[in-house]
Amino acid sequence: MLRKSLNSKVPDPQTRQPSCGEETVTLADNISKLKKEKRALIMAHNYQRAEIQDIADYVGDSIGLCRRAMEERDARMIVFSAVDFMAESAAILNPDKRVFIPSLGARCPMAHMLLAEEVRLWKKRYPKVPVVLYVNTLAEAKAECDVCCTSANAVKVVNSLDADTVLFGPDHNLAWNVQQKTGKKVIPIPRDGFCPTHVLFLKEDVLLLKGEHPDAVVAVHPECTPDVQLIADFVGSTSQICGYARESSAEKYIIGTEVGIIHRLKKENPGKTFIPAYDGAICPNMKLNTLERVYLSLKEERYSVTVPNSVARKARKALERMVSIVQ
Ligand code: SF4
Repeated sequence: MLRKSLNSKVPDPQTRQPSCGEETVTLADNISKLKKEKRALIMAHNYQRAEIQDIADYVGDSIGLCRRAMEERDARMIVFSAVDFMAESAAILNPDKRVFIPSLGARCPMAHMLLAEEVRLWKKRYPKVPVVLYVNTLAEAKAECDVCCTSANAVKVVNSLDADTVLFGPDHNLAWNVQQKTGKKVIPIPRDGFCPTHVLFLKEDVLLLKGEHPDAVVAVHPECTPDVQLIADFVGSTSQICGYARESSAEKYIIGTEVGIIHRLKKENPGKTFIPAYDGAICPNMKLNTLERVYLSLKEERYSVTVPNSVARKARKALERMVSIVQ
């Protein structure tokens, strides 16, 4: 039991001091206890707050987390600390578990830039062209596509298709990256879908930082604009950036993705230095989740994420096709 009402501001679990005779019971302790009682998993995306990453069972990218959850056969419920489309994917891929998201408002604006209706219109316009959708889409849109992809496997997925042209959405910067690497015609749907956080990185800022840290290498996400991608030493998904930092002999890195990942990078590579390419690159949707909300989600089993069967079946097919291509 928490000693202080959660209706009032809950102190930082790391700094709260017990009063005389009071044992220190932190939110983290309560989460850990509840997790065991309820056979629950806490999955945290790489962009989550540091204190959530620290108590999570797994930290990773959206599909990595979903697949990890699938392996946890004893788990009964998942608190998916991330944004809406990620929790939906977890629900689609884990029909045997109940899935909850700590904040109802944690919605990815990019995923909402391409709704199912618009995918259907593009399909009518290009009836013979396969549709590849980034996992950063809502379940209803996924249900309309031929195959899903992640930023880590988009090139492999597009290369696997027997087609010179593909419809690809919703991120037009990732679409550009895929076109460069596959040599195929990649038609972005919609024309201008983007991540509001990743477009905050500017080539000028990266060059300035490069000037200040000439020994640093630059690693950025393919949701960044093409001019930022073009000056980077490495372009990859969050998991690929983590792998690059682990394996590279470089000591210093300029990182072009949401700043939450810096916590994981520092934790996994204690001897190395990580500098955000722009320290204001904070996804406000991801940051709606707090440790307190994760606790309440677990305790009160809120907010439940479900996907109608008819949608889930088709979306699952598109996700499974992706998995079969990249395995
Ligand atoms: S960082 Fe961008 S793509 Fe990821 S959840 Fe936030 S808005 Fe969506």
